[in-house]
Order: sequence, then structure tokens, then C-alpha cells
Amino acid sequence: RKGNVVITGASSGLGLATAKALAETGKWNVIMACRDFLKAEKAAKSAGMPKDNYSIMHLDLASLDSVRQFVSNLKRSGLPLDVLVCNAAVYQPTASEPSYTADGFEMSVGVNHLGHFLLARLLLDELKESDHPSPRLIIVGSITGNTNTLAGNVPPKANLGDMRGLAAGLNDTSGSTMIDGGKFDGAKAYKDSKVCNMLMMQEFHRRYHEETGITFASLYPGCIATTGLFREHIPLFRLLFPPFQKYITKGFVSEEDAGKRLAQVVSDPSLTKSGVYWSWNKNSASFENQLSQEASDAGKARKVWELSEKLVGLA
Ligand code: NDP
Repeated sequence: RKGNVVITGASSGLGLATAKALAETGKWNVIMACRDFLKAEKAAKSAGMPKDNYSIMHLDLASLDSVRQFVSNLKRSGLPLDVLVCNAAVYQPTASEPSYTADGFEMSVGVNHLGHFLLARLLLDELKESDHPSPRLIIVGSITGNTNTLAGNVPPKANLGDMRGLAAGLNDTSGSTMIDGGKFDGAKAYKDSKVCNMLMMQEFHRRYHEETGITFASLYPGCIATTGLFREHIPLFRLLFPPFQKYITKGFVSEEDAGKRLAQVVSDPSLTKSGVYWSWNKNSASFENQLSQEASDAGKARKVWELSEKLVGLA
């Protein structure tokens, strides 16, 4: 049978390119988990995805009810789940005020981390039951949350602090919408959410890899400077960012090539190692990259896990 892979946020950018790369192999049925059904359908059609190899299901990560509904719809469809890719994200670098999910969490951490955390926890049993040779849970990370890199040192830097803001609920009545309890900063909230993504991948690995054999992995696909992620940035930034990444940092990668990288992490039989954060070198060969101190701190990972369980209603 074909493998079944769920990709969140497959209606644009990296998620769409990955969905296309996998659907074209003929070996995968791609379930595009998207908040905008029509946009996803249009995107799949205009990318020329073979229509027998994908379907679209509604998922809005900014609502825990929607996450639960998605999980129940997927279970009812009877499709076994072989790989889950947590890819969707919002980035609000120019927002002066926070916005909120349906459950009242600051949007970037609410969508990128908390929505995915609940989704991954609720689908873990499905992955455990998969008879696929290599079931996987992939959480897309980023260099920007890694303060051991040049890009990760551009202020404002990621920093979860003592997580007093997360403990208090990241909402407008708790006093702070930031994980560390500080003042709202959209760019930092995104970076913090990516640190949570990378910490959660490792915490899943520690808790479940040995018992289940599931591969838990994260990756930095390169700087895909052309995606919708930068849609809320100022126009001058959007104009100059792609050539800057292409010619100055040379970290630029096209959406198509980044999609092939993520597709590799989903399906390449040689990338089964669990607990790994993959990156690619100049010749596009994958290697196991090092995470920053904070993004590999096991104590912080456990704390994010436990506080997040409370916020999403699992504890
Ligand atoms: P895009 O903005 O192109 O894609 C983000 C996707 O997430 C879109 O499909 C969007 O849906 C979806 N999404 C946003 N909010 C929600 C929600 N509430 N519920 C469901 N889906 C939602 O950005 P990228 O492709 O660049 O980003 C994909 C991943 O890659 C992210 O995890 C990002 O952190 C990571 N990444 C990106 C890099 C880059 O340089 N671009 C570098 C490193 C990592 P819609 O189409 O409806 O808006």
C-alpha cells in the first residue's frame, strides 16, 4: 500500500513543495492538513499534484477544538497514519500587538507549538499502530531559534527564560503573552516557538523512541526566502531578503529544493535515526546538525512538555 503522510500547512511554501515531491513518487498518499480548504485545493492543482495521491482535510491549529476534530476525522477515515509532519507556522515580525488563538494563546506560540503539540500527542497512538517500515514524526525547526548560529544571533534572540509566561497561560489576562514573561515581540515569539518545536522533537524521542520505534526528527531546510512566511514583513524587507540570502549569506534554497529535503526526512530509508536535527551542506548533502544549548536542554524540554500539557488540556 501507499504510505499515508499528514502535512500541516501544505497550502503554501515548504509544506506544498513537500506534498508535491511526495505525491509525485506515487508511493505516498498525502493528507494536506490546512486551514483554508479552497486555497489548498487551488495550490495542489496549480502545482500539478497527481490527484490520486493527495487529499485535503481541514485543520486550524489556532483552535484546539479544530485539532481534536481533525484527529477524530482522520481516525474515522480509517486511513492508517505512517508519518506526521508538523510544518505550519505563523510569523508576525511587524505586529505591535499580540493576536490570539481561539483558546486565548498568543498566536505564534499557540499555532506553531501548542497546536502541533496537541496534534502530535493525539496522533501518537496512530503512529504506534502503523505497519509501515519507518513511521516518523517530523517537526520543522529553524536556524533562527538556534543561538549557536549567526542567524540565531540577530536580535531579538530566542530565550524561554524560566517560562513564567507559558506557565501563566500566554494570554492577555495573565500579564504576559511571551514564554519568558517579557513584553510582546512578534519576531521573538516566532523564534521561541521554534525552540519549543525542537525541544519537543527531542522530548518525544526520549519518551517514546525506544518503546515505539518511531523516528522523531527535526530539520532546518535552509532559508526559503520566497515563502509566504514573510508576508507580514515590510515591503522593503520582502524585496531585499531573497537576493540577500542568495548572494550574501548563500543560505538561500528554493521552495522546490527545500521540499525535496523535507521529503527526504519523511521517506529516505537512510534517514531513520531518531532524535536528530537535520541540515544540508553546500552540496545539498544532509548531516546531523548541533542545536544551541537552550534548544537541546533536556530540563527545559521536560518543562515545556509539562506546562504545554496543562495548557492544551492533556494534564
Ligand atoms: P508559509 O507561510 O508559506 O507556509 C505556512 C503554512 O502554515 C501555510 O500553509 C499556512 O496556511 C499554514 N498555517 C498558518 N497558520 C495556520 C493555522 N492556524 N492552521 C493551519 N495552518 C496554518 O511559510 P513556510 O513554508 O516558509 O513555512 C513552513 C515551515 O518552515 C514553518 O515551520 C517555518 O517555521 C519553517 N521554516 C521556514 C524557513 C523559511 O526560510 N521560509 C526557514 C526555516 C524554517 P495558509 O496558506 O492558509 O496561510
